[in-house]
Amino acid sequence: MTAKADYTYVIDFDGTITTNDLSSELAAHYGGPIYKETEERYRRREIPIKEWLRQIVKLLPPDLELLSGKSLQWAEIRPGFNDFLDNARKMNSTVIIASDGFGFYIEPVLEKYNLLEKVDCIYRNDTRTGENGSLKVVTPHAHKTCSVCGNCKASHVVRNKEAGKPVIYIGDGSNDRFGAFWSDRICARDRLAEACKEHHLSYSSWDDFYDIINFEKPELKDCSDHSLCLPRGRGIKEEYGIK
Ligand SMILES: [Mg+2]
Repeated sequence: MTAKADYTYVIDFDGTITTNDLSSELAAHYGGPIYKETEERYRRREIPIKEWLRQIVKLLPPDLELLSGKSLQWAEIRPGFNDFLDNARKMNSTVIIASDGFGFYIEPVLEKYNLLEKVDCIYRNDTRTGENGSLKVVTPHAHKTCSVCGNCKASHVVRNKEAGKPVIYIGDGSNDRFGAFWSDRICARDRLAEACKEHHLSYSSWDDFYDIINFEKPELKDCSDHSLCLPRGRGIKEEYGIK
């Protein structure tokens, strides 16, 4: 058995592994004006992602087969991901997917492209049919008290760092900032890149996974000063709130 590795990649799914954000596309497709209003409130940081999920899931038809079918039809994998996974395996690095979307489509999408077995671990929310027949989002990886994220990506980053492995975070969304700011190298695009600029943090800009393969690997760093939350403590730091 090969020893596992020195590095851990924590990777967002929607808009990162896929070029499109499947949760947002489902929300936009079925959600109409309520989706737009909720999305704008989220973008203004008036509501956290956990509340976005809670409100938006009510707008989806309670038919997971239909929603899975749409997701599989719409999903596009970002160039280089297969080669990146092969390279990570060759280097004995660990690959973790951490997603704060509806979650149910991740394994089927990866399986469609023969990528699922190359990923070490997936932390995601789940969308299920509730007792009254409507959909609800279940968040098994949420912080016990913090109400900001459905999936506490910061906890996945910190846990790997505590095991002595530098973490490389790859993401695209503003909500990725909570996990990314704890990591030893931030690979950011789109709104995660804007969040890094907002907080004057350095990051590696990327377009596709071929870029990631070539980035230099980081050393373990203490990120407690510039992190936005305390996954081992109370969660979101008061001074950052979600505003
Ligand atoms: Mg994303």
